[in-house]
Amino acid sequence: MLIGVPKEIKNHEYRVGLTPAGARELSARGHQVLVQRGAGAGIGVGDEAYEVAGARIVDTAEEVYARAAMIIKVKEPQPAECAMLRPGQVLFAYLHLAPDPEQARALLASGCTAIAYETVTDDRGGLPLLAPMSEVAGRMSIQAGAHALEKAQGGAGVLLGGVPGVAPAQVLVLGGGTVGLNAARVAMGMGARVTVLDRSLERLRHIDELYGDRLTTLYATQDAIQAHLPDTDLVIGAVLVPGAAAPKLVTREQLKLMRPGAVLVDVAIDQGGCFETSRPTTHQDPTFEVDGIIHYCVANMPGAVARTSTFALANATLPHAIALADKGVVQALHDDVHLRNGLNVHDGRLTHRAVADALGLPY
Ligand code: NAD
Repeated sequence: MLIGVPKEIKNHEYRVGLTPAGARELSARGHQVLVQRGAGAGIGVGDEAYEVAGARIVDTAEEVYARAAMIIKVKEPQPAECAMLRPGQVLFAYLHLAPDPEQARALLASGCTAIAYETVTDDRGGLPLLAPMSEVAGRMSIQAGAHALEKAQGGAGVLLGGVPGVAPAQVLVLGGGTVGLNAARVAMGMGARVTVLDRSLERLRHIDELYGDRLTTLYATQDAIQAHLPDTDLVIGAVLVPGAAAPKLVTREQLKLMRPGAVLVDVAIDQGGCFETSRPTTHQDPTFEVDGIIHYCVANMPGAVARTSTFALANATLPHAIALADKGVVQALHDDVHLRNGLNVHDGRLTHRAVADALGLPY
């Protein structure tokens, strides 16, 4: 199969859909890989690395889209990219179609077969192509929070790990899923005292088995959250109710309970945020202050560590890309119900019920 890898054109998107290692795997199986010149430049991967791996470099996105049977990329296609998609061409990328009717219409009109990373499933009911980005965001949330706690950033001037003779900071992690577990792990590694709250006892048991008394697990009630706010230096918002807006777990009123300069990192901001006072921010201007409390609410945290994020995403997507290339899209989808769950658009029709329902379009 001829596989095309365009350079991402969305604002501040530096990731790339396929790494040189992925290009080598595909080439070794007899597939041809076309990579747009400069596709990996933003993460320090040069064109020659792809060429050494067996890929061919082409100058323009037009060439990639015109020739490839399957396009592998990261972000949802922008209007100019949708216009280049052809009937029967396979698109494998994050799409997030539910809130994006304009893109949905463009993909339907193109006649392409679009498989969305975010709806591919696994045997444990998880979303394996979203998990790597949650791992990145979870680990990064502590880094971002530690920085925001510095005095020059408006924070209380607290070092997460303390020092001998000075107590470490208290970190409260709301939601013990992929983001929360990774946040807790890094916070513990930096020497902070960590408490993880979740609504799922099963999840709390899992965390307890992993870390024992190195952290505290608590069932997430409003009382438990409120009781911890006065002593907490850093709160990580990491809850998810699938398919719904994030529940608001800390109100503006409750900010008064916290110490001035305490920090809230709302990782769940991409689902509306779990603090009442959150609003989305960017890497250029990541924080703002409300009632003396610093908020960090960047909606695309993994973008800041695009190199790590690219490799993390590619590890998860490559086996599916290989299956699609080796078997062809029809057989690959037939053989793997989880990949089939990723199918959002085919031949001018929406093929994912939840996405169709969200858009109010026929399934
Ligand atoms: P997950 O499903 O693995 O974990 C979510 C956890 O929240 C679950 O354990 C669930 O039981 C718990 N939960 C749900 N409601 C709760 C409540 N009321 N109180 C306490 N716990 C509750 O999800 P995840 O992969 O960890 O993602 C968490 C959030 O982070 C999602 O909104 C995701 O979209 C977001 N995210 C954001 C970025 C970013 O750049 N900002 C990056 C990756 C993920």
